[in-house]
Amino acid sequence: MHKVIIFLGPPGAGKGTQAKHLASELELVQLSTGDMLRDHMARGTELGQQIKEIQNSGRLVSNEIVVALIRDKLSAMESIRVIFDGFPRTIAQAQALDVLLEELSAPISSVPLFEVPEAILRQRILDRAAKENRADDTPEVVEKRLQVYRDETAPLIGYYEPRGNLKRIDALGTTDEVYARLRAVI
Ligand code: AMP
Repeated sequence: MHKVIIFLGPPGAGKGTQAKHLASELELVQLSTGDMLRDHMARGTELGQQIKEIQNSGRLVSNEIVVALIRDKLSAMESIRVIFDGFPRTIAQAQALDVLLEELSAPISSVPLFEVPEAILRQRILDRAAKENRADDTPEVVEKRLQVYRDETAPLIGYYEPRGNLKRIDALGTTDEVYARLRAVI
């Protein structure tokens, strides 16, 4: 049985942690374009070199690159049981994903939106920076990523909400509390 869940929400909202938990409980594959891109950078592939500066500055890499990564992953799957984490991030990506899912006859089941006030996001991302040593977690880059979220990704709320599968989740609280709220709507 296909199952397609799209995690929406700003950087630092805890999508990655919740996606890992839900993926293991529901036997879904977590598809994080951020992780895929970091993996290319770590391996020093041609793509990794090409995107390094863009990613480290907090801007988005091109729609073509991330859509191609997602297309490759989906085309290798027998049943489409996925959580998209950090994708789509633009309306163009969402439209491309609609086309891919249509071809695969795999409709979107739900779109949880993780909501956290911006001031708290800034603090959370900087706390994570101390632990994970990510080059895009410096204060200037964090501001850029939040701005990119507001300008390019937040419009996806209006894209999915009219379809009736957007689920707003208060993402403040412990991991377990947020997970319980997520499970209540999935
Ligand atoms: P994330 O780990 O999801 O916060 O992604 C880290 C960085 O990778 C972002 O700031 C972007 O530079 C890049 N990135 C990840 N996913 C996407 C996407 N769907 N579209 C464009 N750029 C992305």
